Amino acid sequence: MEVGSALRQLPSVDRLLQEAAVQALVTRYARPQVLAAIRATLDAERAAVRAGAAPRELGPLVAAVAAQAAALAGPRLRRVLNATGVVLHTNLGRAPLSPSALAAAASVGGGYSNLEYELGPGERGSRHEHIGDRLRRLTGAPAALAVNNNASAVLLALAALAAGREVIVSRGQLVEIGGGFRIPDVLRQSGARLVEVGTTNRTYIEDYARAITPDTALLLRVHPSNFQVRGFVHSASPEELVALGRARGLPVVDDLGSGSLLDTAAYGLAHEPMVQESVAAGMSLVCFSGDKLLGGPQAGIIVGESELIGRLRRHPLTRAVRPDKLTIAALAATLDHYLRDEAPRAVPVWRMIAAPLEALQARAEHLAAALTAHGVVAEVVEGESTVGGGSLPDETLPSRLVAVGVESEAALAARLRAGDPPVVARLERDRLLLDLRTILPEDDGALLDALRAALAPADDVRPSADIG
Ligand SMILES: *Cc1c(COP(=O)(O)O)cnc(C)c1O
Repeated sequence: MEVGSALRQLPSVDRLLQEAAVQALVTRYARPQVLAAIRATLDAERAAVRAGAAPRELGPLVAAVAAQAAALAGPRLRRVLNATGVVLHTNLGRAPLSPSALAAAASVGGGYSNLEYELGPGERGSRHEHIGDRLRRLTGAPAALAVNNNASAVLLALAALAAGREVIVSRGQLVEIGGGFRIPDVLRQSGARLVEVGTTNRTYIEDYARAITPDTALLLRVHPSNFQVRGFVHSASPEELVALGRARGLPVVDDLGSGSLLDTAAYGLAHEPMVQESVAAGMSLVCFSGDKLLGGPQAGIIVGESELIGRLRRHPLTRAVRPDKLTIAALAATLDHYLRDEAPRAVPVWRMIAAPLEALQARAEHLAAALTAHGVVAEVVEGESTVGGGSLPDETLPSRLVAVGVESEAALAARLRAGDPPVVARLERDRLLLDLRTILPEDDGALLDALRAALAPADDVRPSADIG
């Protein structure tokens, strides 16, 4: 058929609107959404016809409109089950929040709040007070400030304390964190001048001392979160940096990155630097993320000396990077878990890190048995989880995974991602693996349902006789 006449055969928007099935969509999704879906469907159809395809009948077009309308009306950002075994998966939203953190955000978000209001005297207050006291008690630092994320915390600290002046950093700590956060670029953005000292593998305290000039504003230490240098290495200790800073009257700023409040070594991992340790070592300011090992909402937290925190608060950039009320509510509730000494069983990322191997084994056996009963080849295998989020590179936690045998693992993985809720699994050496460490036990049922739906008879994911 000639393209022009094929295009003329396509129904008009009005014609499609007259269909009973499309009218039902109008009732369900509202007219503007359905009109958008019809236009998108017809645009795609015209493009297909121009490319040589035969125009589709009314029936398939109406079905395409229904799929479009559902896609347009559905949530874009949605809940996903993380079966990858990476606890702090930045692409999957890092830390899941605890029920009480979520409840706090819902309660404050659903109404008015005392965000910047002192209920006692009935006067204007500060949004920073809601977390300041908790952070002081948890870290031992005299003052604290929360901002949008740790990237803005570091930017703010440098802008407020070092704009137009020099900041001394070890060459071994000029890192890129991911998502384009590079320490030299952040320094430049802040208006500070970078002074590099030492070498990639070895930097001594004398290197810092020699680089100090009347123009030096501060010494910066950066935790090289996501990589490790082994062998002939040396870096100045926090104590050495603090002593040098005190002797020369310079603040020392510590970008801890993850900044744990609990000791990762208690869970068979290497020791990740803790916020309390940096504070105790005498660091002037310590910056860390709210949604890495703290296990709360996205935030950047700065704790340290009152005078410096005061200067940060008064800097105009603080207004641009201030956290919103939902974040403050969820962060305060997350910090409360630590104050109540219940973080390992209440903060989801710590529940996952602390999950005993026997519990993972039992859950994996249960899941594998349920899949086997469903006619699928599944078995429990040993494997490893990682912390992720730029913390503890090379460190793994032993885990138990369920391996699912199908003819095409990639096809099953795609169907799992397309499910509701979507499941992100791990593909490893031709096997589809589900790591139960990053699935909270209360989500086991949802995971099984999603697997059953994805394994429902389809040619590309037919169960195979063995596991990859
Ligand atoms: C992760 C990280 C950052 C960035 O923190 P965000 O909260 O992701 O903005 C900055 N510095 C270090 C050392 C980090 O590990």
